[in-house]
Parts: sequence; C-alpha cells; structure tokens
Amino acid sequence: MMTDDNHLDSERELIRDTVRRFAEREIAPQSETLWEDQAFPYEIWKMAGELGFTGLPYPKEYGGGDGDWVSFTIVLEELARVDCAVANSLMANSTVASLLSNYGTDAQKQQYLAPILDGRKVGAIGLSEPDAGSDAANISTRARREGNEWVIDGAKTFISNSGTEVTGPVVIAAVTGARDNGRKEISNFIVPNGTPGFEYGRKLRKIGWRASSTFELVFRNCRIPADNLLGEQGAGLRQTLAQISTGRILIGALALGLLQGSLDRSLSYMKTRRAFGRPIADFQSLQFKVADMAVHAHAARLMLYDAAARRDQGRPFAQQASMAKLFATEKAMEATHQAIQIHGGYGIITEYPVARAFGDAKVLEIVEGTSEIQRMIISRELLSQMDT
Ligand SMILES: Cc1cc2nc3c(=O)[nH]c(=O)nc-3n(C[C@H](O)[C@H](O)[C@H](O)COP(=O)(O)OP(=O)(O)OC[C@H]3O[C@@H](n4cnc5c(N)ncnc54)[C@H](O)[C@@H]3O)c2cc1C
Repeated sequence: MMTDDNHLDSERELIRDTVRRFAEREIAPQSETLWEDQAFPYEIWKMAGELGFTGLPYPKEYGGGDGDWVSFTIVLEELARVDCAVANSLMANSTVASLLSNYGTDAQKQQYLAPILDGRKVGAIGLSEPDAGSDAANISTRARREGNEWVIDGAKTFISNSGTEVTGPVVIAAVTGARDNGRKEISNFIVPNGTPGFEYGRKLRKIGWRASSTFELVFRNCRIPADNLLGEQGAGLRQTLAQISTGRILIGALALGLLQGSLDRSLSYMKTRRAFGRPIADFQSLQFKVADMAVHAHAARLMLYDAAARRDQGRPFAQQASMAKLFATEKAMEATHQAIQIHGGYGIITEYPVARAFGDAKVLEIVEGTSEIQRMIISRELLSQMDT
C-alpha cells in the first residue's frame, strides 16, 4: 500500500501496523454482522481502549497516550479502511474528550474523561437538534438555573455513541440566555447516562455508520448538578466550534480509510475476477478507475497529514482541515461508487465490504459540516484575505 513516508517515522509506522493488524483480525470478521444488526461493538471498543487507540492524543494524566494528531489520524484511517462505523465511535468519543480535556475541571476530568479514554465508557456529543444542524447557533434545547441545579428541556437528534450500555457522559449544548445582540447564549453541560428526565428516543436506522449507535435524546425537566456546567456559562458554542476543525481532520481520516479500502479491494478483485477469458484487470476502463482512486488517496493523505501536523505544531489549521475534509469525503464517495462498479453484481451484495462502504461515504459528506458548509468556510476565508 502507498503511504506518505514524509510523515511516517518508525513510531507512526508501528502504530499503523498495530492498528491494521487489530482491524483485520478483530474487526473484519465481525463487520458484516455488526452492519446487519446495527449493533455497537462493545468488545471491540473495550479492546481499542486497552490498546490505547481511543485515548491516543489525550493527556497521560487522565489515561490518554500523550500522542499527536498525525498518529491519531493514522489510527482512524486504518480502522475506517476496515469498518468506518467503528472508526466513528472513536471520532465522536474524541470530540467529547477534547471538550472535557480543554474545558473540564480536574474533578470532571477524573470522573468523565478518564473512563472514555481507556474504553470503559464511550462519550457522546449532543449539538444537533431536529430543527438545527448546520445552523447550530439556532438550537432550542434550554437549560435554566434553579438553586444548585441546571434544569434541561429539549431534544437532540443524530447523536453518535448514544444509547449504548457504556455511553457516558453525554455532553450537550443548551441555550442559557440571550446576548445583548439578540443571539442565543449557549452553554455545554455534562449529562451522565441514566439521569432522571434524560431519555433516549428512537434508535435511528441508517444507510451508513450502521454499527455506530445513533439515537434521539429527550430532556424533560432533567436536573443535573450546577457543577456539570462545562467551562464558562455562555462559552458552549465557542468551545464546540473550537473542536470542529480537529473533527474535520478526523472525518477526513475516515474518508481516507474508505478510499484506501476501496482501492485495495478493487485491485485484488480485478486480479481474480475473469471475463471474456481474461482477468478484468486487463480492461483499461477499470485500470483508470483504480488509478484515480490511488491519486485521490495520495492527495487526501497529504492534505490530512498536513492539517494534522499543523495542529500538532500549534499553527493555524482550520482552512486546511476544511479543504482536506471536503476533498477526502467527496473522493471517498466517488471511490466507493467506483469500487462497486468494479465488483459488478457482487458489489451490491452486503456481504462484500465495498457494498457496505457506500453508505458510510455518504454520511461523511454530511457530518462535521456538510460539503456546502465547507465550501462556504473556504470561500469566506479566501475572500477575507482579499480584504487585508
Ligand atoms: C449518522 C450521523 C451521525 C451524526 N452524529 C452526530 C453527533 O454525534 N452529534 C451531533 O451533534 N450531530 C451529529 N450528526 C448531525 C450532523 O452534524 C448534521 O446532520 C449536519 O450538521 C447537517 O445538519 P442537518 O442534518 O440538520 O442538515 P441541514 O443543516 O438542514 O442541511 C440541509 C441541506 O442544506 C444545506 N445547507 C444548510 N445551510 C446552508 C448554507 N448556509 N448554505 C448552503 N447550503 C446549506 C446543507 O449543506 C444540506 O445540503 C450526525 C448526523 C448523522 C447523519
């Protein structure tokens, strides 16, 4: 497999090899069943935690690995190459871990961060609502202060990692007031699983990320201690948006895994499948499809590692993350489509990983800012540079 050697020292090579072995040995044999059953993979999650994958870029003090973001990008890429839904469990967990790690008190980190870094629990982030996704500043879940408690009312939807036996905590955004400019004041709260007044609504049945557990959340007069406010009151949206560029790198890594998986599976199928008395690898029309996949995977890898390296170095990376996410996800959509074409009728049958990858690629064009939102961000930045 082609990799980008510039970013791969021996430690990262070792991480890549370890994750690849784990994904192929532990996840691949179960992947079809997990997809069929839409079942969260508890055992895999636990093992990923024990191997240090889930907490890799987080502080050792709380059970993380003190690793860098290029390495975590590699972890997600390798997992998604085999099963994108499993990789998403790490991705969503990571957003919660970043929020707790950056804004939590020491007590909050001991109680809520440590268990989601080592695989005992899995974190969920609840920002999206039935009437507010891209327009996240327009959420309507409310939290009001009553004595020593916050009381939450509202609903969330599409929440990854929710509704499993090991979910906890769920970090949600809620409106806590109005600003002078008329905008909503939004704060983040830590809601432990099982808090009275917090219930799961429907389990959402999906065409992609099927083994990633996705539920609606309902809050009715849900009371949590005042201490469960995360960071400052009113800083919620700022906190979440500050993590979103990192999230875009990670979704891009999932897309890269799909791209590479599509390429690897297409190449081996082309060598073995025969038509008109020869391997289908002899047909130039199919050769061109794998050539395009390889070009796109290489370019996506360079873009993603560059964005992650900038993040590691403390340099600005938001624009690079948006570009990498947009490119990688759209090329993954193309690659999964073409991989099915190369597999002919077998590509439609869900026992084939290329069939299952198709829905996963579509999800990636929507989450962590849709392709339209990425284009908006990228063009806005370009135009603002013209003004300076
Ligand atoms: C499987 C899955 C898992 C998810 N997991 C989570 C999670 O864990 N936590 C969480 O909080 N959310 C999660 N989400 C929600 C996800 O972040 C939203 O679906 C996404 O932000 C898009 O919002 P929306 O679905 O409301 O679409 P909308 O915002 O309603 O968009 C609909 C369409 O309008 C376009 N559009 C919107 N605004 C503009 C604009 N200004 N200019 C041009 N076009 C525009 C969009 O690009 C899209 O094509 C998940 C979603 C899915 C599908």
